Amino acid sequence: MSKNILVISEIRDGQFRNVTFEAIAAAKEISAGGEVTGVVLGESVTETANTLFHYGVDRVLKVESEKLAQYTPEGYTQALQAVVEKEDPDGIILGHTSIGRDVAPKLAARIGFGLVSDAISLEITGEEVIFTRPIYSGKAFEKMVVKDGLIFATIRPNNIAALEKNDTLTGKVESVDVDIKDLQTIIKEVVKNTASGVDLSEASVIVAGGRGMKGAENFKILDELAEVLGGAVGASRGACDAEYCDYALQIGQTGKVVTPDLYIAVGISGAIQHVAGMSNSKVIVAINKDPEAEIFQIADYGIVGDLFDVVPKLTEEFKKV
Ligand code: FAD
Repeated sequence: MSKNILVISEIRDGQFRNVTFEAIAAAKEISAGGEVTGVVLGESVTETANTLFHYGVDRVLKVESEKLAQYTPEGYTQALQAVVEKEDPDGIILGHTSIGRDVAPKLAARIGFGLVSDAISLEITGEEVIFTRPIYSGKAFEKMVVKDGLIFATIRPNNIAALEKNDTLTGKVESVDVDIKDLQTIIKEVVKNTASGVDLSEASVIVAGGRGMKGAENFKILDELAEVLGGAVGASRGACDAEYCDYALQIGQTGKVVTPDLYIAVGISGAIQHVAGMSNSKVIVAINKDPEAEIFQIADYGIVGDLFDVVPKLTEEFKKV
């Protein structure tokens, strides 16, 4: 039976995040020919909202309010609850980003449904939707079956392929009026502290440095390699604790969970808490001077050597490609 699915979009710097397009692809599959509706929240979003049609949605709903200019759990939950109550969908899909992780459980509690969080794939069997999600820091996978009721899930970025963009697909953005009550939290300024312009959680290439980098100034060689590869720089907690870089770059159990196409671990030993955040990367390359380092056990390719020799050489070689 076909289903109507809402996709809650996420905008950063005036553009949809990739995970929104991945959520649309997941919603299309679940909808089985039903209607997929993108929901866009913000202060003034019409122009951006128009572009969502290119990624395969059938309808686009926008909720505009100065109270939605920045993400706040209160504002977003109120707006989304109103949209869900109006639309009465069969399913809701959104990204497992810091916003998704925050707002989805709140919304689930408000509307009285369960939530499948952090799904990395899905399959449909008859009327059932089966989501797969990593558990125990990625050491095992669990299948969660939604048999009936609302299909509500967050999906991990970089795991479900987005549909190909089609600029000829267009439509008319519909407006939903929501009376958002005064917010307890006001965001006055957003300070960005990622080194490169590439968002770590959505980057297809990550070059991550550990305590082996020996100093903040040495992260420059990682910036150079990441730039040549069009990637982002990440770090182990060892590097963050040593004040080589900001905690915003930390990958692992208590940092960001990433699944890039290519993860290059530089001077990182491979502690279980680090591996929890990156072990699902498609290809892992480890550079470490210790041949016994744990990281080599999960690496697809290992380079035993001094990172200060290896990394600049890699950068030079990639520049030639
Ligand atoms: P180290 O373990 O010190 O490894 C440095 C590596 O660099 C070594 O393997 C060494 O051989 C290599 N090296 C040194 N010099 C060179 C060189 N010149 N060339 C090549 N290689 C070199 N850690 C995380 O990363 N993320 C988390 O989210 C996280 N959460 C945690 C949560 C808890 C509750 C706890 C207890 C710990 C957590 N940790 C986390 C910390 C984790 O246990 C490790 O301490 C940390 O990952 C180690 O960082 P590292 O690999 O950079 O440093």
